[in-house]
Amino acid sequence: MGVISRNVSSVLERVEAAASKMGRTGDSVKVVAVSKTHDVEKIIAAAEAGIDTFGENYVKEAEMKIAAVGGDLNWHLVGHLQVNKAKKAVKLFDVIETVDSIRVAQVISTRALSIGKKLKVLVQVNIAEESSKWGVLRNDLVFLLEEISLLPGIEIAGLMAIPPYTEDMDEARSYFASLRQVQESINALNMEGVSLRELSMGMSHDYEVAIEEGATIIRVGTAIFGMRRT
Ligand SMILES: *Cc1c(COP(=O)(O)O)cnc(C)c1O
Repeated sequence: MGVISRNVSSVLERVEAAASKMGRTGDSVKVVAVSKTHDVEKIIAAAEAGIDTFGENYVKEAEMKIAAVGGDLNWHLVGHLQVNKAKKAVKLFDVIETVDSIRVAQVISTRALSIGKKLKVLVQVNIAEESSKWGVLRNDLVFLLEEISLLPGIEIAGLMAIPPYTEDMDEARSYFASLRQVQESINALNMEGVSLRELSMGMSHDYEVAIEEGATIIRVGTAIFGMRRT
């Protein structure tokens, strides 16, 4: 058995364990294998080991890989999306996890409608309010969701966050809990067209904690594919 296949089994087992600890089943958590910088052979190996959803950060890189891999895999965009790449992204991806402005949402919606799609998106929240990070601030979130909910080519599926890197699992947990609280408080508003089901949070080093705090999507790169070439 190859290393990727072993890694996938180990991640899936740990997902199952973390979920069942919370009274959930493993299949309530979607594992997105983040394959940026890794080549197509590795993606195929992960798919053969049972992964059906992959994450890429760059539209151009994804375009090449999706064409090369083929098959009926699902693709999530997990990197920041520039407005001038949005058209292409709509064609390539099943979910765009990184919407954080009305401008990019408008382009996505228009493009999606023109190809007969309604695109699932997550709104990226800058949960620790870091000046260096993408994502909408908590205070601007309701307004942004209101605007996006009016766009006919978009389905708002939930929220995503990339908290500051930390080895301290209590600190990691507090960011995940904050995102879940944001989700709950928005859902309590019962906004028309805004029902946040998904929470995308947790990466290789902290996905179990994220699941304990309610993640429905985890984004795992290194734990499946090994270290990235930089
Ligand atoms: C690269 C990346 C990941 C995967 O990170 P690992 O630590 O390798 O699991 C997850 N989410 C986003 C947004 C990324 O850019």
